[in-house]
Amino acid sequence: MNATSPVLEKLQNVLALEKDLGYTDRAVIGGLAKFSTFWHKEARASTDDPSLIQLVEETAGLLEEYASGDVEERREIVEAIQRRWAGADGHVMSPKTRPVQEEPRAQASTTPPSEARTNLDSPVTELHGISAAYAKRLERLGVATIRDLLYLFPHRYDDFSSLKTINQLMYGEEVTIVGTVTETKERTGKRGQSIVTTTLSDGTGAVQATWFNQPYLVKRLTPGKQLVISGKVDQYLGQITFSSPTWEPLDKELIHTGRLVPVYPLTKGVSARWLRRLMKRTTDYWSLRLPDHLPLDLREQRNLPNLESAIQQTHFPEDWERLEQARRRLAFDELLMIQLGVLRQRHEWRKASGHPVQIDPSLLRTFLESLPFDLTSAQEKALSEILDDLQKPKPMSRLLQGDVGSGKTVVAAAALLMTVASDMQTVLMAPTEILAEQHYASLSKMWSELWLPGLTKLTSCLRLLTGSLKPSDKESIYTEIASGKARIIIGTHALIQKALDFKNLGLAVIDEQHRFGVAQRASLRQKGHNPHVLVMSATPIPRTLALTIYGDLDISTIDELPPGRREIITRRMRPRERERAYNFLRSRVLESEQAFIICPLIEESEKIEAKAAVEEHRRLQEDVFPDLHLGLLHGRMTADEKEAAMRQFYRGEMNILVSTPVVEVGIDVPNATVMLIEGADRFGLSQLHQFRGRVGRGEQQSYCLLLADSPSDTGQQRLKIIESTQDGFKLADEDLKMRGPGEFFGTRQSGLPDLKVARLGDVKVLEEAREVAKRIFEEDPDLELPQHRLLARRVQEFWHRGRGDLS
Ligand code: ADP
Ligand code: MG
Repeated sequence: MNATSPVLEKLQNVLALEKDLGYTDRAVIGGLAKFSTFWHKEARASTDDPSLIQLVEETAGLLEEYASGDVEERREIVEAIQRRWAGADGHVMSPKTRPVQEEPRAQASTTPPSEARTNLDSPVTELHGISAAYAKRLERLGVATIRDLLYLFPHRYDDFSSLKTINQLMYGEEVTIVGTVTETKERTGKRGQSIVTTTLSDGTGAVQATWFNQPYLVKRLTPGKQLVISGKVDQYLGQITFSSPTWEPLDKELIHTGRLVPVYPLTKGVSARWLRRLMKRTTDYWSLRLPDHLPLDLREQRNLPNLESAIQQTHFPEDWERLEQARRRLAFDELLMIQLGVLRQRHEWRKASGHPVQIDPSLLRTFLESLPFDLTSAQEKALSEILDDLQKPKPMSRLLQGDVGSGKTVVAAAALLMTVASDMQTVLMAPTEILAEQHYASLSKMWSELWLPGLTKLTSCLRLLTGSLKPSDKESIYTEIASGKARIIIGTHALIQKALDFKNLGLAVIDEQHRFGVAQRASLRQKGHNPHVLVMSATPIPRTLALTIYGDLDISTIDELPPGRREIITRRMRPRERERAYNFLRSRVLESEQAFIICPLIEESEKIEAKAAVEEHRRLQEDVFPDLHLGLLHGRMTADEKEAAMRQFYRGEMNILVSTPVVEVGIDVPNATVMLIEGADRFGLSQLHQFRGRVGRGEQQSYCLLLADSPSDTGQQRLKIIESTQDGFKLADEDLKMRGPGEFFGTRQSGLPDLKVARLGDVKVLEEAREVAKRIFEEDPDLELPQHRLLARRVQEFWHRGRGDLS
């Protein structure tokens, strides 16, 4: 076959006619998808040229989706095919047969003109068969460039690598068989759907496979054809069958069956088969052209596979072991990028000069003595570390971590006070308006009797800056900030990050740090002030992890709670005790207390989760607590709606708040005493602990009830642990031990770039990456040596891609 062969002409005529008919899929009887099956066969038979075979495969693949597309999508498909064939004049070299190149563009002259300009950072539309419409869909999966596509990893693998004969099949197994089609029939089901049934035999027996709504299969699964079928063995009327298994012809390199088959995240208009095929083509060609940013000696020394094979094996692994090696390499890369970025940032900050604070010991004493309690020794230690830093001419970068209720606020209050008394401005940022208001209220109270040198009342310099202020009030606060009259500004992260014009900012305190990333910290510093920065987090994390995530910070830890805290009574309950749990909630509400009900975590999407919460709220309100006032909080509500719901709850205007796991951290409602967590086995220990921290903030005894419908063994074990301890650090450690991939600490929360492969619980890789990063950094902090050039680029891109904007 060449570009003017009858086979191709037939295709071109059909496409031209289809265009004339307005892409209505009427150019051939049965539609283009059907047409493609016999055209495919004919075309394949007419050529040995691998490049043409490739083209034929692509064309057939594109047409396979034709029936399901709308007019626009069909137009895209037709045009993509036409474009593709227009470039082929009968002797196009197949990507696979092109010489392997180490540097992508080095031998551009041997590649055809259309490809010469294409490189890893080209948009995916440069790939054959990717129309603008498909590019849009891929964008929803986070893919814009060819490189992105290589880094769109499967979220799991189906193991179809174990071949069985038909007589060995057992109900319920996931298997792969090879057989010859003896018969294929189509019939119409009860609801008018097409049902195609194929009978396959392999010499040991025969088995049927059934597909729904894929009528074109009749033409493809013709008798005599050898097929590979992978799927779960089902049964129908006592017979062993396959229901909608994945399949492919035996003669091809297997992509969809008979191996570890990658399963990718999908989106509307991107089918599993289509994406897998695209991935195969893309990885085959482009992974060879992916220059490795890790120097060879480092790879050898750490026994890491090269990038090319890591990418290939991650997409189409030959076996589990190679997959594991590949993932280790990619995880190492990610953790190394993080480490290098973080070290770099630390280095930059250390270079800057800051504003030393003059500590006023007698004012400090006055403040501490005015408190109704003594600081715990952990608080004292943290405070002295912070005050030491403040006095230095270098800007402080410190994390203050301590469990919920450990008393971080008062420590921050002392630091703020000392800075203000030393004639500088300060800010305190909170993640939500309510928290900002709470901080404002408690600081106003704590500081009500304090005077600054010069006989200024401390509280007269305190301002609350929130989005709900009148514009004129906001303006006047801005003016006071610029003039230096306002000296302690409390507000939300969002507001304060906006270009506030400080006169002389000395200290920024950021509460609930895990919602505030490295990037934001950096942007704060770039305001030209180099203020001291103190970030506070209630999510205790083990040290190795802290060093990764907060590697740019020094760490102070408050590891004891103030004396006399009551334990939150935590109980696992069985599903049949749900009524009892509801009755218990009701009894607390009747005592004028309030409760939370947390809906189960739904991983698929926030949308589905929100929908489920709306439904659960309705059910609870109508069927269970018709006489009480129930509120609702979920992730699909706008920020204002969320604030409003929390505010109502805070004011006691609702009895029970039904919430998805988004329930804001740090909301302090002392009157809330019960937390009921549904699907508790699906949460991590640290997350459960965070939820639990929403109660027990007042005087009354508080309770946490854990419901789980059918927990797995590990789920059960987790619940036992959370029931038995209130120690956040211990729970965090256990959590890291028990949990797998990235579950421990959503990177979205940490403000780090997305980790696709690395598991933060994988301490070994983490430490290895740290060691290497340190060594590289010591040798070449600006990554200027030739062997680090590529690495420098990758680090830069890695941080820019995520929200971490490392300058
Ligand atoms: P968190 O660390 O969760 O931010 P807070 O700073 O809000 O905790 O403190 C929780 C409560 O404990 C507050 O009511 C605070 O006044 C109180 N508190 C703080 N330190 C002590 C202490 N040393 N002794 C007794 N109560 C304390
Ligand atoms: Mg707090």
